[in-house]
Amino acid sequence: MEDVEKELEKLSLQIKSCDKCPLHKSRKNAVPGEGNWKSKIMFIGEAPGFNEDEQGRPFVGRAGKLLEEFLISIGKKREEVFITNVVKCRPPNNRQPEEEEIKICTSLYLDKQIELIKPKLIVCLGNVSANYIFKKFGLKFESMNKQHGKIFSASNLFLQTKIIATYHPAAILRNQNLMPVAKADWEIIKEVIDSLT
Ligand code: URA
Repeated sequence: MEDVEKELEKLSLQIKSCDKCPLHKSRKNAVPGEGNWKSKIMFIGEAPGFNEDEQGRPFVGRAGKLLEEFLISIGKKREEVFITNVVKCRPPNNRQPEEEEIKICTSLYLDKQIELIKPKLIVCLGNVSANYIFKKFGLKFESMNKQHGKIFSASNLFLQTKIIATYHPAAILRNQNLMPVAKADWEIIKEVIDSLT
């Protein structure tokens, strides 16, 4: 257990000084992720935005506030779960991370975080996260509209986990029509979490 903690801290330090892809040039702070890894529940977003880059913490802007509200609605505080992103540095002007950036960053950092934490549930927040995680575990991600709120089981050499994709909080802020659908997804997320404990 203590080893996991130490390894995660070591990884965070590496992330903070990473220069392996061009995103490091424009970042203010890299954002490794944070929370209670022992809960074995990981929420994975896309990439840091302006506020995250300023503070070095994930989901601290408007989207983060909505994520916190969803978490509260299922009886969790943000510090009770582990929250991170596919890429750890803010892409300029909040553009989507490029394939090569995702490849470099995940192979060095997110994959290792997942190996160390061994989550029992991964919640993919948005398309970029779902695309990456589904593929990593040999699942097909077709679209959020088709696959949101569905429970997938996956395993590899290191772990067995459940995976749920739901809409990114920023997408819900842009399109309030998604709110009822997202709320229903979060009820499913709650059921899965309750079944783990
Ligand atoms: N959007 C993300 O995908 N991640 C963050 O940390 C903040 C906004």
